[in-house]
Amino acid sequence: MSGPVPAYTLTRKRMKNLRMVISPGTGEVRVSAPMRTPQREIDAWVRSKSAWIAAKQVEAAAQPAALAPGPEADALRRELRPLLAALIDEWVPRMGVPHPTWRMRVMRTRWGSCNKVKRSLTFNVELARKDIHLVEYVVVHELAHLIEPNHGPGFYAVMDRHLPGWREHRAELNGRAID
Ligand SMILES: [Zn+2]
Repeated sequence: MSGPVPAYTLTRKRMKNLRMVISPGTGEVRVSAPMRTPQREIDAWVRSKSAWIAAKQVEAAAQPAALAPGPEADALRRELRPLLAALIDEWVPRMGVPHPTWRMRVMRTRWGSCNKVKRSLTFNVELARKDIHLVEYVVVHELAHLIEPNHGPGFYAVMDRHLPGWREHRAELNGRAID
C-alpha cells in the first residue's frame, strides 16, 4: 500500500494487538501498540485504515468535545437519573454485589468509573444520549468492579457471565474509556 500515513499519537502498552481510538471533538488519532511491534508495522497498519480514520474524523468533528455545565447538562441528568436507578436496582441483586452509592458527572474522557473501597460509582451525564443497552453495559461494567477492581481475566469472566455481548457494546462506545 502507498500513500501518506495519517498523523497519530502512539502509546506503548503491554498488550497483544494494535488498537486505535479517534477522540471526539478533536478527531485526534490515538494508537496503542504492543511494546515490541516495529514502527513500520504500526505505520502500515495506520495507513491501511486511512479511509476509516477520515470517516471517523468527520463524525468526531460533529460531536461536541465536552459538555458545559448548564441547562443542557441538567436536562441530560434528569433523563439519565431514573434510568441509572432502575438499572442499578435490577443488576445489584442479579450480580450479588453490595448496593453502591452513585452519582453523575460531566466527564470528558470516560463513561464511568468505580471506587471499590468507597463502594461508589460515577457515570458520565452524556450516557443520556446513548441507547439503553449501552447504558446498561456501563452499569454492569462498573458493578463488576465491585467484584474485580482491575481489568484482568477475573473481571472479564464476570462480564462474560452476566453480559455476554459486552465486547460489542464496548466497541460501540469507543472514543471514551470505561474505567
Ligand atoms: Zn473498568
